[in-house]
Amino acid sequence: MMTGERSKNFASENDVDDALRQKYSRQILFAGIGEAGQERLLRASAVVAGCGAIGAAIANLLVRAGVGRVRVIDRDFVEPSNLQRQTLFEEADARDALPKAVAAERRLAAVNSHVHVEGIVADINTQNGEELLGGFDVILDGTDNFETRFLINDFAVKQSVPWIYAAAVGSYGLTMTVRPGVTACLSCLLAGERGGGGMDETCDTIGVLGPIVNLVASMATAEALKLLSGRTEALHGRLVSCDVWSGKFQSVRVARNADCAVCVRGEFTHLDGDAQPHITMCGRDSVQIHERSRALDLEALKRRLSPAVDDVRQNDFLLRFRVAPYEMTVFADGRAIVKGTQDPAVARSIYARFIGA
Ligand SMILES: [Zn+2]
Repeated sequence: MMTGERSKNFASENDVDDALRQKYSRQILFAGIGEAGQERLLRASAVVAGCGAIGAAIANLLVRAGVGRVRVIDRDFVEPSNLQRQTLFEEADARDALPKAVAAERRLAAVNSHVHVEGIVADINTQNGEELLGGFDVILDGTDNFETRFLINDFAVKQSVPWIYAAAVGSYGLTMTVRPGVTACLSCLLAGERGGGGMDETCDTIGVLGPIVNLVASMATAEALKLLSGRTEALHGRLVSCDVWSGKFQSVRVARNADCAVCVRGEFTHLDGDAQPHITMCGRDSVQIHERSRALDLEALKRRLSPAVDDVRQNDFLLRFRVAPYEMTVFADGRAIVKGTQDPAVARSIYARFIGA
């Protein structure tokens, strides 16, 4: 849906004008990119799936590097506990409960007005995955869960688009670039290990440090810059893992699985299936409900709910209220996050009671 859309700010075919040459002079001086590489970056596009700590850092670096079109997709809103590591956001964003995609778009547009930046508030799933991820030169992983990563892997292999896996928890993180038909894919790496390939712990249970997410994001973005500037020979093709606390770094070549369900057999179960549950865990103490796809009138909802619930707050993108001990955040697309429970039945019942079936 986005193909063919070209901002007038884009450099013309073979010309980086003087202002842009000045702006990106340090990157052009770097032999690995040069003027030809910079011209390609200006015409390139990237989609960042998820804008938590890793996604925010990746988007920031891509936009500063001058990648012509950057889309950021995220389902969540900014909270005070994000600010320790999510470098695109500020206290005011958390106070206003801005969706991360909205806060990111504003900040990134201010960072580099030459880049076409687009923030989309959405949960990537089987219904919208192809539309949200399609039409970009590379997909970068800023997600926090393997359900979405396997969906991205399916889409990327099916469409033959490179994508860059990145994850971090505690002080440990890893990243791997997937080039369909050339390298191993995520399924080659993690088949039979669906729990998460040694990443079963989550940031909600054991915490996470700012330095590791920004390190992993930096390594992933460097790979993206190689791809987008046409320097594919510089891609290292390895799974790199590192721990900023122990100082241990490791880099291993991952072989393709000759019988991989995804990149060899072409079975795209995460993309094609309707296996995606309508209710999913979202952090340690929250449940996300997305079984309804029609839009909500947040103003009308606010008027209706105000007499019945506490602390109703609303902005252009979401409405939040408390029904002790729970807090519900409802997005304009009808999706909701119920905080204060791990029980899908409880979340569903609160949703039905206050939002409707
Ligand atoms: Zn594979």
